[in-house]
Amino acid sequence: MTEFLRVAFDVPLDRLFTYRNIGTKAAPDGARIGCRVEAPFRNRVIEGWVVGELSACDIDSSLVKPIAKVVDPEPLAGEATIALAARVARMYFCTLGETLSAITPGGRRESSAGADSFEETAPCDHSLVLSAPQRAALERVLSEKSGRKYLFGATGSGKTEVFLQAAEATLAEGRGVIYLVPEIALTHQVVEAVRTRFGERCAVLHSGLTPSRRLAEWRRVMRGEADVVVGARSAVFAPVPRLGLVVVDEEHEGSYKSGSSPRYHARQVAMMRCAEEGARLVMGSATPSVEAWKLMLDGGMEKLELGGRLSGGAPPEVEIVDMRDEAGPVSRRLAALVRGAKAAGGQSILFLNRRGFSHRFSCRTCGEELKCRHCSVPLTWHKDRDALVCHYCGYRAPPPRACPSCGSLDVGWGGFGTERLEEEVAAAFPDLTVRRLDADSATGKGEARKLLEDFRAGRIDVLLGTQMVAKGLNFPGVKVVGVVLADTSLNLPDFRAAERAFSLIVQVAGRAGRFTPDGRVVVQTFKPRSPVIRLAAATDVAGFQALELEARRELGFPPYSRLVRVVFRSKSPEKADRAAETFARLAAERLDPDAEALGPAECPIALMAGNARRHVVLKGPSMGALHAACSSALSGLGEPPGVYVEADPDPVSLL
Ligand code: ADP
Ligand code: ZN
Ligand code: ZN
Repeated sequence: MTEFLRVAFDVPLDRLFTYRNIGTKAAPDGARIGCRVEAPFRNRVIEGWVVGELSACDIDSSLVKPIAKVVDPEPLAGEATIALAARVARMYFCTLGETLSAITPGGRRESSAGADSFEETAPCDHSLVLSAPQRAALERVLSEKSGRKYLFGATGSGKTEVFLQAAEATLAEGRGVIYLVPEIALTHQVVEAVRTRFGERCAVLHSGLTPSRRLAEWRRVMRGEADVVVGARSAVFAPVPRLGLVVVDEEHEGSYKSGSSPRYHARQVAMMRCAEEGARLVMGSATPSVEAWKLMLDGGMEKLELGGRLSGGAPPEVEIVDMRDEAGPVSRRLAALVRGAKAAGGQSILFLNRRGFSHRFSCRTCGEELKCRHCSVPLTWHKDRDALVCHYCGYRAPPPRACPSCGSLDVGWGGFGTERLEEEVAAAFPDLTVRRLDADSATGKGEARKLLEDFRAGRIDVLLGTQMVAKGLNFPGVKVVGVVLADTSLNLPDFRAAERAFSLIVQVAGRAGRFTPDGRVVVQTFKPRSPVIRLAAATDVAGFQALELEARRELGFPPYSRLVRVVFRSKSPEKADRAAETFARLAAERLDPDAEALGPAECPIALMAGNARRHVVLKGPSMGALHAACSSALSGLGEPPGVYVEADPDPVSLL
């Protein structure tokens, strides 16, 4: 038993503490590296991680307190995982203890996305004979022992089968596999496919499992009993020995980015791990992120095209409906199609993007939306102050009397709040059975499953909801799919808004009506002429990427720059303001001339749970330089009392 232990606590304090090791009944040999322990810390006893061992101690050893308890008799993390956590901690402005607790299943609990166990189709437990493009893609993936590849192909083009066969080949080399899926109910099918294909040697690390079940799965990986791990975001940290392959399925999904500290991006961690451990990295999507697309253009990642659906059949026709002269949230055209579907014995799905933002300012004649002159993100109208505000840089302007684009006087705020929208959809079809499915309406696991079963059985005419309804998209009875408001994400004051709107439409259309050649997809929009909507309706990914990359280049947004967002939260708006101002000044002094500090500004969600929110966005060509300036400015700022400060490198959302 090592005499002294170095312990990292799950607190925002970036240092380690030394304790004397003790044996307990459950752990007679004491704690080892990677075990959790309980130890006295500032008048309390709290849990921490053993991250180092010392045989001698350089301070008077009689002053060193013993630990209070060994929590894990067996380590939960090996030295490699601790080293990875340390790198992630540094990169994402977090401490080692906080990071270890966030990434291992024994630690802090992740919020559950309400995954269920509804089974869609029986997965296949034997390899399929690959199509020619699948075979070509697999050959490229296996052509080297490491390297980055991207499977670009429509939903149903057979990406999953290529991932699975790449995993089989990697296991045959004696190396382990991590298969990442986003945190959405939709991916359950893929998890089942991986489990069925690999059986006992597969471990599942998904937030749909209970914490104890996840811990048991993690331990199976630690002990080498499982060498294929399938799971969401944090599975990228799984202690898979001799890692040979990481798959990032649906690479564009936002849920790969952690919503709490450390705000790591699983794609970024996967890149780091694969580079260091000499493993292959294979990502895939029908709508790659702009970052990934740029990497492919620049030759940093090989693009492997799979093309369209394997089952043949053209994707359903996408119809754009202009909402500017419609009275309610459901256009006359969409209403007619929904009623027509019902008359023909079919069903409809209506998509609502709940991340919608209602207070936007636009022209009702031409659809023009006012944007910040510095950031080109839509301005948010604060009705109470009668001001248009940019939530990136703080720019403010009075609302114009006439549209700057067409001169029309019919300008004002528009958009509908999502709650009201739902009521109106139900009211529009009083004679039809309308049901809502989203995280609020279906809290229990069983409810979502029951609702989808009812829908499949035809007991529901119109299923309405968020991403959660996507599973119903290829049910045979579905004839009409409506994207109720494609602009909701376009209106977000966020430079990724176009990317989100584009991928939502393409993903919905791609999943819809696999069994119904006569199916219809209707996209309702206030901007029918928007190139983003048009390119999405035509599934023109390359066209969209070219357009979006050009816009990002002009404005200097990622992938042409890197960002670090720092958020200041406080019960006192003045304190938040002061901290943000001080930080912005300190950061500006430390940034290179080619970088800038945007703000301080109110966050688009300026008040959350009673806390005022302000942010500063650092933008520059090099993450290394931004990181250094940010670190230094954060230490210069110290710990302003009553203010919670959080840094987010490569933010996915700026809300
Ligand atoms: P993607 O992952 O690209 O969305 P899927 O893997 O879901 O595509 O494939 C769509 C369907 O095609 C699945 O039902 C799958 O079993 C089937 N499939 C995939 N590859 C083949 C193949 N080589 N031969 C026959 N069917 C295949
Ligand atoms: Zn106008
Ligand atoms: Zn601005």
